Amino acid sequence: MAMCHSVTRRKATSCVFPDRCVVCGREHPGNAVRVSSKATGWYTIVFWMAGSKFTVDVPACQVCGRAFLRQRRLRMVATWAATLVGVLLALRVLRHYEGSGKSWLAMGLALLAISPWFLWQMFSAPAFDLTVGDKKVDYEFRDQVYASEFAELNGEAQ
Ligand SMILES: [Zn+2]
Repeated sequence: MAMCHSVTRRKATSCVFPDRCVVCGREHPGNAVRVSSKATGWYTIVFWMAGSKFTVDVPACQVCGRAFLRQRRLRMVATWAATLVGVLLALRVLRHYEGSGKSWLAMGLALLAISPWFLWQMFSAPAFDLTVGDKKVDYEFRDQVYASEFAELNGEAQ
């Protein structure tokens, strides 16, 4: 993601978060939100499959945490809806197409149709997100200071 600050760590190592709310930055929020994401790799593109689930507890005030999770669910639903609309549009445009490579063409058109949504997502990054690979995890923070503190606490160069 372009507009966030990411810290990459090995998947197997546990991590420590700064004792501040990841959303508003308040000290000692005394609460955490559980964020999980499924691993993605070459198999995701080839087989449309995700790998194992990776979960972390991220400090957030109760109010911020609830809003954060609500927004995260909404983004997920909107992403699926945008993808569905993109696929339906592609199928409609290609309904009379008889040439070769129809499925690749449909995939390309669908990606083109949903690209504005993904662009918007890139420029309005959530307070926190995870990108999980097979061996590594990207911890993505909207706040650069928070990301630096996280990197320092976990002995990682950012
Ligand atoms: Zn907060």
